[in-house]
Amino acid sequence: MSYVDEVLERVKTKNASEPEFLQAAEEVLESLRPVIEANEETYRKEALLERLTEPDRQFKFRVPWVDDKGQVQVNTGYRVQFNNAIGPYKGGIRLHPSVNIGIIKFLGFEQIFKNSLTGLPIGGGKGGSDFNPKGKSDREVMAFCQSFMTELCKYIGADVDVPAGDIGTGAREIGYMFGQYKRIRGMYEGVLTGKGLTYGGSLARTEATGYGLVYITEELLKDHGMDMKDKTVVVSGAGNVAIYAIQKAQQLGAKVVTCSDSTGWIYDPEGIDVALLKDVKEVKRARLTEYAAARKSAEYHEGRGVWSIKCDIALPCATQNELLIDDAKQLVANGVTAVCEGANMPTTLDATKYLQDNGVLFICGKASNAGGVATSALEMSQNSQRLSWTFEEVDAKLQQIMVNIYHNIDDAAKRYGMEGNYVAGANIAGFEKVANAMLAQGVC
Ligand code: NDP
Repeated sequence: MSYVDEVLERVKTKNASEPEFLQAAEEVLESLRPVIEANEETYRKEALLERLTEPDRQFKFRVPWVDDKGQVQVNTGYRVQFNNAIGPYKGGIRLHPSVNIGIIKFLGFEQIFKNSLTGLPIGGGKGGSDFNPKGKSDREVMAFCQSFMTELCKYIGADVDVPAGDIGTGAREIGYMFGQYKRIRGMYEGVLTGKGLTYGGSLARTEATGYGLVYITEELLKDHGMDMKDKTVVVSGAGNVAIYAIQKAQQLGAKVVTCSDSTGWIYDPEGIDVALLKDVKEVKRARLTEYAAARKSAEYHEGRGVWSIKCDIALPCATQNELLIDDAKQLVANGVTAVCEGANMPTTLDATKYLQDNGVLFICGKASNAGGVATSALEMSQNSQRLSWTFEEVDAKLQQIMVNIYHNIDDAAKRYGMEGNYVAGANIAGFEKVANAMLAQGVC
């Protein structure tokens, strides 16, 4: 049996109850096959893949807090420190009722390669809780965040592990968590990223993931003799990534005609009104029905359906496994040119394969949404230097990082005879740096 198959078997047996982690491990290891085969003896002897698929450590803890009625509530908190071969653990905190250890492990595993791809010195980690911030008062959110950080602060630090935002964790939550860390540890350090601008946050961090997604999409198109101008784009999601992807795509002359949330979706043939979307989602924290109510050209539909709209470019920016095989078929039938992932693993394995087999240019999230964590690393640099850079400086660095990522993954795919397979290219380019660092550091 090949080394990859051996390790995949082992990972499946050991993590049978974690489907999302298995999906991510399978996707990565499958596409690394040629690299592993070229170095099979060394990697097997060093148990490199066994070490890479086993987190350095994982924490699971109780998070008790008191709601507005005086009732004690209990949630579960997680932090998985997956791999720090190339830098301190770095990865967001997801607050969503669906969160479990398998989801956090899948995200932490993906983060290793994504962080490596940025070219910056950051390792892979992820955390979260099954707490749902939706419908909670600010005081309840603060009570949860303080309790969560009371435990988490024992395991993190500016040179150890630096969490950030993710689904459900925005500026408000990061602020409450930072305040509690400072209070307990008595230290003012860049222990979290995504902070507010008045206390160490970086300009352009809010925009970074969405903007970065569009920068890499533009570079991909440019490399194939096209650009974003006058393209029709469909986007899913209406959160941080989606909003700024829509904004940047429109700035580059594209027309974005959809967005969605967890209950329904919008089709707006005149182009999404970003200012209105921001007001509904960032200010009022309301449903998309409010967007449709305020805009004549928009249709609101219950359920899911953005992938049924004819487009040139599709940008899935909501959550994992939201673009399924039937959606891929519909996109291909409608003549889509490129699909670039803003969310983490939004496209299922079979849908990805279908898109690639049908000539669609496809970039996976670990490359195309890396602008968020890259800018987080730029926030860490600014904190360490006790300096802040202008929006333009950070945005220019972000743009260059995304252009570099595109060319690195393109080159890696070409080196192994898989030209145009950017999934393999991303895994290979991300893996090589981490693997070399692990080998250099001995058995640890
Ligand atoms: P937000 O919480 O800001 O937005 C998420 C959006 O997706 C919301 O519109 C939400 O709807 C929708 N959504 C969430 N769960 C589901 C679901 N099960 N079905 C349909 N829609 C859903 O998160 P972000 O924009 O920050 O993150 C989106 C994705 O991007 C995630 O996969 C995240 O891991 C990834 N990512 C984020 C980065 C960042 O910097 N923010 C960096 C890299 C990756 P509703 O409004 O109803 O809640």
